[in-house]
Amino acid sequence: MDNAAHLREFLHGRDVSCPGCGYNLRGLPGAVCPECHQELVLAVRLAEPKLAAWIAGLIACCFGTGFNGLLLVYAVARCILDGSFQGMDSFYVTTGLAFVAFCPLLVAWVRGRRRVQRWPKPRGLVLVIGLWLLVAVDLAAFTLLLG
Ligand SMILES: [Zn+2]
Repeated sequence: MDNAAHLREFLHGRDVSCPGCGYNLRGLPGAVCPECHQELVLAVRLAEPKLAAWIAGLIACCFGTGFNGLLLVYAVARCILDGSFQGMDSFYVTTGLAFVAFCPLLVAWVRGRRRVQRWPKPRGLVLVIGLWLLVAVDLAAFTLLLG
């Protein structure tokens, strides 16, 4: 039995809304929503995916990458407008190193979502705390840089 046949059988006599547009798919003869014209599939999914640790880690990685990336863009723009790159060495080194450190972490964290979801809770919690400690160290270094 193919997807359309499974879907037809599942929707026979059931009120199910299209996940794309909310149209009632009851008795749908095919595998395409007649309202939004998107293809539908019948699938098994988790009732409540364990995403808390992954999302908390993702926010930490995005913060570190975005914060340092924006600082670098600002610093480069400022130096171009001022016509001088003098006196910004420690700023570039600190934000550049932090940016270079957070980028691969962000990529690895996004690519490893399924792995993170399989981890036992204490392991995920330890890694998330570690990521947020990195963010705290980054912010402390930036604050010291300003002072
Ligand atoms: Zn639809």
